[in-house]
Amino acid sequence: MENKIKDLMQRIEAMKASNEQEIEELRVRLLGKKGEVTALFEEFRTVPPEMKKLFGQKLNGLKTAAQAKIEELKNSVGKQVSSSSKTDLTMPGVPYLTGSRHPISITRNEIISIFSKSGYSVVEGPEIEDDWHVFGALNFPPEHPARDMQDTFFVTSGDNPVLLRTHTSSVQVRAMEKLPLPIRIICPGRVFRNEAISARAHCIFHQVEGLYIDEGVSFADMKQAILLFAQEMFGKDAKIRMRPSYFPFTEPSAEVDVSCNICKGKGCNICKGTGWLEIMGCGMVDPNVLEASGIDSRKYSGFAFGMGVERIAMLKWQVKDLREYFENDLRFLSEFETAI
Ligand SMILES: [Zn+2]
Repeated sequence: MENKIKDLMQRIEAMKASNEQEIEELRVRLLGKKGEVTALFEEFRTVPPEMKKLFGQKLNGLKTAAQAKIEELKNSVGKQVSSSSKTDLTMPGVPYLTGSRHPISITRNEIISIFSKSGYSVVEGPEIEDDWHVFGALNFPPEHPARDMQDTFFVTSGDNPVLLRTHTSSVQVRAMEKLPLPIRIICPGRVFRNEAISARAHCIFHQVEGLYIDEGVSFADMKQAILLFAQEMFGKDAKIRMRPSYFPFTEPSAEVDVSCNICKGKGCNICKGTGWLEIMGCGMVDPNVLEASGIDSRKYSGFAFGMGVERIAMLKWQVKDLREYFENDLRFLSEFETAI
């Protein structure tokens, strides 16, 4: 036994390790449940009583030496790591997360850029509005259902209540009141409607509305402006069609569909087999609306159009659930990093 202790002591002193894994292996080999030092302690039980004192001291010394050696190796390996991290210039760098624009911003900026090329300027207005600018000046009769609490968020009640705008047409009213003619503007902004949140509807969404007022503006001018937009947004081959519709502030009014850019008009899931996708509403500004803002409707005419930015973005990227745009899940947002 004396020889075994001496031999192991010598080997412990000579032990070397170059990383933490090797040190751990050494520790298990010496001090683990089946380690060499542990085995000697087992053997110690069979030592005659008169020798126990002598071997006991030697064994304890051996165990202390083994523990000290492992500590020493740990310290030296740790130093190597810290000293090398200071000097190793070949280590790969840590990439910075740069972030990206929100898909709604990307789409809104694209819409703005398309209309800017045709000479439209951007006008913005307040999100908290009065009844006159959201409804009254836009030819909404007093009993119109849009004025109901179920559709609109009211801040105050009364004859001219304060409310959250339900469309950006209110900005057009303010522009008609203030700007000199002719007017050629687009109004991007957030709007609010008292709706249950689902995959297809939200109580907050974004619109871009456009307005062009001048002498002799016709329905054909509107059709051409919208066709140009559709071709810039959805591709050169895009076609549009107009279906008769009704809005209080335009007469005549139309819904605009663009040919489905996914199936090229053959019919698919996105266009529900029709080959057409609804993208906006439009119409010739109702003479009542022009007069309400002090514009002579016998001399001037104009057209207006409005689209939901979320709708355009959903069609562009085939996003099926509107709520994705508001939840700010980085996994969703980072998909648009390259779309800026
Ligand atoms: Zn389709």
